[in-house]
Amino acid sequence: MPRIYLPVLRFANNRISITGEKARYLTSVLRCRKGDDLIVFGGAAGCFRTIISEIGRHEVIAEVTEKFLCNLEPPVRIILAQALLKGEKMDLVIQKTTELGVTEILPVVTLRSQLRETRKLSRWRKIAEEASRQSGRNVIPVVHEPVQFGSIFSVHASLFTAGLMLYEENGMRLSETVEALKRASNTATKRGLVVVIGPEGGFTGEEIALAREKGLLIVSLGQRILRAETAAISAITLVQFLLGDMG
Ligand code: SAM
Repeated sequence: MPRIYLPVLRFANNRISITGEKARYLTSVLRCRKGDDLIVFGGAAGCFRTIISEIGRHEVIAEVTEKFLCNLEPPVRIILAQALLKGEKMDLVIQKTTELGVTEILPVVTLRSQLRETRKLSRWRKIAEEASRQSGRNVIPVVHEPVQFGSIFSVHASLFTAGLMLYEENGMRLSETVEALKRASNTATKRGLVVVIGPEGGFTGEEIALAREKGLLIVSLGQRILRAETAAISAITLVQFLLGDMG
């Protein structure tokens, strides 16, 4: 059944008015017709089963048949702090980790980042919205403006109470961190758990030292060197398995 995410719901007499880009998306991309069923995700307003009752040149009207609960959010808030990656690798990481349930994505400029700035923020936010819609989530992860590595522990420290830094050279096994993370995540629902992934060239010793000093657990995913995008997707999957809703 087609689904659409509407950050702002225009609701009158049990009818939802959909206009602009979203209306075009329904008619030209999803090729919706009058009488079709449509699921509308309205963020805090909730989720609605509807039937399309009118299709105009600039507006689609959806008649609400049922409001339903659709909280597919995991019990732990996960913040992915991903070092900026070149090309379409960031797109992939944002799409897959959104499907996997991350709550916020922090693109990070690290010492070895080959990419130091980007004009892709609105594209990444679109990818997060589309991946949320496709996965049935009613919440779109926040994709922040890129930040310098150090500000994870200052400006953005309020986002999390505990965290992991993925380091291929040495670190604890993820399974050894579960108790510490569970203790931290009991309070994490409010603030979350940060998972930090490096750039193509990896982290420097100073970055690892700073993260350790700030209380992050330095974790290895085994001896094989994974590409950064693989490390991000597998780390979030494992955290969801150990602490979240994928176990
Ligand atoms: N510096 C490395 C090198 O020798 O080319 C590789 C960096 S790796 C491609 C990119 C990032 O993925 C790392 O910074 C780390 O965060 C993560 N990563 C890759 N393999 C990992 C592993 N086995 N354990 C933990 N993290 C890993």
